[in-house]
Amino acid sequence: MDTPAKPRVVKCPTCGSGVEWGPQSPYRPFCSDRCRLIDLGAWATDQYRVAGETPLDNESDPLASGPH
Ligand SMILES: [Zn+2]
Repeated sequence: MDTPAKPRVVKCPTCGSGVEWGPQSPYRPFCSDRCRLIDLGAWATDQYRVAGETPLDNESDPLASGPH
């Protein structure tokens, strides 16, 4: 009986889809480069920083709301 080498399949930690553990999956254990970045937090951190950094200088302008 020959025992064919079964490709080891792992789950992508980000989206949970099956990823073949081999040279055809350069981003293993992630399914794609995008999932890898999401898991690392670099992508999410960057998004949060841009969203939370709203400049308040434009709203409180002393020259615009001064006494007439
Ligand atoms: Zn994925």
